[in-house]
Amino acid sequence: AVPRPDYYIPHSDISLICKLGEGAFGEVWKGSLKRTDDDKMKKMEEKSGAGLSEKSKSRLYVAVKKMKGNATKAMTEEFVLEAKLMRQLVHPNIVTVYGVAPSEEPLMIVLELAANGCLKSYVAKYQCPVDQLLQFTADAARGMAYLSSKLVIHRDLAARNLLLGSAVEVKISDFGLSSSGKTEVKVKQMKVPIRWLAPEVLEEGVFTTKTDVWAYAVTLWEIFTRCQSDPYPGLTNQQAKDLIRGDALPMSPPEGTPPIVVKIMEDCFTKNPDERPSFMAILKRLCPEEDLTAYEPKS
Ligand code: ATP
Repeated sequence: AVPRPDYYIPHSDISLICKLGEGAFGEVWKGSLKRTDDDKMKKMEEKSGAGLSEKSKSRLYVAVKKMKGNATKAMTEEFVLEAKLMRQLVHPNIVTVYGVAPSEEPLMIVLELAANGCLKSYVAKYQCPVDQLLQFTADAARGMAYLSSKLVIHRDLAARNLLLGSAVEVKISDFGLSSSGKTEVKVKQMKVPIRWLAPEVLEEGVFTTKTDVWAYAVTLWEIFTRCQSDPYPGLTNQQAKDLIRGDALPMSPPEGTPPIVVKIMEDCFTKNPDERPSFMAILKRLCPEEDLTAYEPKS
């Protein structure tokens, strides 16, 4: 028999513990995964910072996404391919994909468990000082610099897709919409998060790493308002679109936003995508002391 690839997880290795939440694609559960002697998996756990607090030798706590609906053969194949690509992405500021369980319904995707849940609930619950919000800002930039160095376009960067690990570090999640290896992606018909979209996405439906940079600025607005509402509160989608397309800054940085973040937001909201800073440039501004050579795009 052909050996199974190491990202292929049998359903019998997964135990579901409790439901964590629900998204458009299905439910998310806390679960545990039977460990194998898979060295690659162990290395991924160490690199991503996951699982280290779990001393259990035989089981690893994970998040399991149960995909709803019946999948066609073509959908399953695409799903497995996507997981294979995502599994190669390992960084402390992104949610690691451990593998997929496609052999039975429902399809499941097994992810690193973000121990402190989603950032939106966290900032609503705790009085996060501005320094901590700055930490989230830098963590998200680091995760995005990593993704863009791997030519991954996220396409749905928003506070709702920022989770928190055991050290309350940001982990970027939900690469369901990502597509790696292409410098731009054109999308025709799809449910889109209008309030996070750059003007050129509204006009032409083209996503690039620079549309992620625009969405990053919207996400910073969410972080520094402590996620009290969606962007453009009180406005209709049409009014929000008019602001996005208009000549002025689409939204004002929230009161109390540190000047360095205000300037980054303004630069990310440049209408011409080519003039927006890269995630690498943003990270350099936020963390000038950090060794950033690992994020240089490989060509
Ligand atoms: P979408 O509808 O686009 O799928 P979403 O972010 O609302 O977006 P999910 O990504 O499916 O939905 O996640 C739903 C909830 O499950 C999240 O808000 C979060 O609380 C929880 N969750 C998701 N992934 C993890 C994870 N890796 N670790 C811990 N909790 C998670």
